Amino acid sequence: MDETIVRNKNIEEIYRLIYQNRQISRQEISRLLNISLPTTTQNLNTLQELGLIHKAGEFQSTGGRKPSIYCCVPNARYAVGIDITRNHLSIVLVDLALNLIDSLRIRIAFEESDSYFSALNKHLEQIISQNISDRSRLLGVGISLPALLGTDHKTVSYATVIPLSSDIYSKLEKYIHAPFLFFNDSNSAGLAESWKGNYTNSVIYLSLSSSIGGANMNGKTLYTGDHNRSSEFGHMTIIPHGKRCYCGRYGCLDAYCSSNVLSDFTHGNLKEFFKQIKSNQGLRNVFDDYMDHLAIAVNNLRMCFDCDIILGGNVGAYISDYIEDFRQKALELNPFENDGSFIHPCHYPTEAAAVGAAIYYIDGFVQNFAI
Ligand SMILES: [Zn+2]
Repeated sequence: MDETIVRNKNIEEIYRLIYQNRQISRQEISRLLNISLPTTTQNLNTLQELGLIHKAGEFQSTGGRKPSIYCCVPNARYAVGIDITRNHLSIVLVDLALNLIDSLRIRIAFEESDSYFSALNKHLEQIISQNISDRSRLLGVGISLPALLGTDHKTVSYATVIPLSSDIYSKLEKYIHAPFLFFNDSNSAGLAESWKGNYTNSVIYLSLSSSIGGANMNGKTLYTGDHNRSSEFGHMTIIPHGKRCYCGRYGCLDAYCSSNVLSDFTHGNLKEFFKQIKSNQGLRNVFDDYMDHLAIAVNNLRMCFDCDIILGGNVGAYISDYIEDFRQKALELNPFENDGSFIHPCHYPTEAAAVGAAIYYIDGFVQNFAI
């Protein structure tokens, strides 16, 4: 192979290794990639000159000189994530380390109109211009939608939560001046939680918002199924001939565990529900009922996948105060275990779907990084 090609390939592998390990020494890089120390040093210098890595202190010495710590420069590139829901628009700007550089969340009802798209464009451009001086550092814009999408990430194949026309992508092209793609909201949120929690094994993400969705992660990769509709946990039947679901069928998990089931008691305000629950036994009973139904779903998921389960979405944001009660309910259905620590509350209370949509571009940059 041509010498330059080998050298570039080594540099690219070193960059990916530093990114994966977050911090690593020159000696460790040389050992793991089987590259001589002088060559490793030369390649590290090239990456430093490109502004992609930097030295960040020293590791504790194991005898002799302390080895330098090499890290990726987080703000070498950025990605934007947008989460469009029925009544809210969230925009986040993240760097390569998934640090939240800037974010905004506004209440605005979705509609396919020039005024909505113009508002989106205005807020997006504001966030970009306030934080990024060199626009070439922006990798792209991931947009999370409550919809099932085609494999091209441009076509909407199923949407009931918000009305989306099939050519929504081409309508948006006029308003977003960067590469952009669509992602399913629950899958994006699952991806963000899995990356943030640094899960290396399988993990299930269950999103408990005004509708229920989920994601099935293996390491940092999504399992999306044969038809791109894996993890539609909201339509698992948990009560035969039970309450009517918005899908038209009966007894789906969504009819029992969407956030509306709780917020309907406090005029649509979920925050108020969790505030009042502390002094209102009636509401506490409603929530106990809710957790009983949720426990059936979580136990089914545990039986199917035998992996950790993250409770996210609007209800997941409040569940940490009740997690021990909930774990007990789930364990009562579990024939094998008496430790419920596999059930976790989510990390991100509101931004998970937007962060997850941005991850596509971050991951793409690192995986396809080429000199
Ligand atoms: Zn249903």
